[in-house]
Formats: sequence, structure tokens, C-alpha cells
Amino acid sequence: MPNPKRKHTPSRRDSRRSQNWKLEVKSLSPCGQCGALRLPHRVCPACGSYNGKIEVAQKVAKSEEGKDQK
Ligand SMILES: [Zn+2]
Repeated sequence: MPNPKRKHTPSRRDSRRSQNWKLEVKSLSPCGQCGALRLPHRVCPACGSYNGKIEVAQKVAKSEEGKDQK
């Protein structure tokens, strides 16, 4: 079985672990409906639309409906 011949130094270990902070979301595209920045291949958080259709009802609209019923 292949095994590491020597123990890695703490600096080499920490250098390897420090690479994870570079994973950031940089790709934000404007929504086709409202123009707000959203992640690609995700439902728009502002208007709830995806691929030109409203897939998810807005949370604001639901809260307003609840107020009207009370
Ligand atoms: Zn939108």
C-alpha cells in the first residue's frame, strides 16, 4: 500500500487547508423578470420566477393575504 514517507510539516498542512476559503460564488446574473441579481440555475429570490415563469409564490404576497383574512 502506498503511504506517505514522511510527516507533512504544519505549514504544509495549514497551506492545504487554507485553500477552501477561495471557494466563493462569483457568478451572479440579473433576473429576467425583475432584474435582481440571482444565482444561475436557481429560482429568483426576489420575484420567485425561473425560466420566465413564476414558479414560487412571493412570501410578501402570502403575508398580505394572511393579513386580509384576519
Ligand atoms: Zn426576479
